[in-house]
Amino acid sequence: MPSPDLKKETKAYALQQGVDLIGFVSAEHLNEVTPTRYKPSRLWPEAKTVISIGKRLLMGAVAVGTGEMVQNARWVAWRTNEYLNSRAMEIAHFLERQGARAFPMSNGTMVDPDFTNLGIYGELSHRHVAAEAGLGTIGVPTYIVTPQFGPRIYFNTILTDAELEPDPKLDFDPCGDGCNKCVKACPNGAISRGRKLIKKRLCIPSAMPHGVRVLQEYIRKIMEEKDPEERIKLLEDFDFARLHRATVQGVGTIAGCFHCLAACPIGRNQVT
Ligand code: SF4
Ligand code: SF4
Repeated sequence: MPSPDLKKETKAYALQQGVDLIGFVSAEHLNEVTPTRYKPSRLWPEAKTVISIGKRLLMGAVAVGTGEMVQNARWVAWRTNEYLNSRAMEIAHFLERQGARAFPMSNGTMVDPDFTNLGIYGELSHRHVAAEAGLGTIGVPTYIVTPQFGPRIYFNTILTDAELEPDPKLDFDPCGDGCNKCVKACPNGAISRGRKLIKKRLCIPSAMPHGVRVLQEYIRKIMEEKDPEERIKLLEDFDFARLHRATVQGVGTIAGCFHCLAACPIGRNQVT
């Protein structure tokens, strides 16, 4: 039987593991408010609590990521997500040692068999879980804006069958009516105010520069090349090596563009 202090203990453990933000929301509430089929009940009907954890993106990566030499910043973004994945695993093990059952989610795993949106859907929307768990507000560009770090933070999620007290939603409106800094900063015009939608067709080439679509196109180019020598050249091309690196390191497969993140004034000076 889990301890009555399990929420407090889980929070303390997560912070000790290096997590920057943690919040709790009931699975029942998420099942009610999630407008899509990506609800906790679809994945694990017995889950009672959904835990959101966040790790901020290093400001150095945001600074470098808006310049010409962006590759290493993309690597930092990917590693930040991996960091969160391993913390989610540790927290789930912690919960199970306390007598609950727990299930850590992944970041960036493609799970949609219908291949909607290039299959780039998680089982849950980490950012929406974080907003419902009181960690921030979904802002104009659909990412979550937190008071502490603005949008420069990634999230992951853990489900548990332990009933832990939910946190209240934040009363926080970062975007108001006047701020359009992220809209203006986007080099592709992908953000529009009002609809709270990023135009994915415009964003994805920058946000996922080495994503699945680029890989498909490159392979198609090789397959369609009739001249054997030209085919060899394509295999020996720098782009091929770059896509190979992306495949083994994750670099640029997600989180490849930093302009809208850098522009947001919220939490810019916060470093702890
Ligand atoms: S990630 Fe880049 S392309 Fe996408 S909305 Fe932000 S600034 Fe625009
Ligand atoms: S830059 Fe302004 S409009 Fe965009 S997310 Fe930040 S606060 Fe909201």
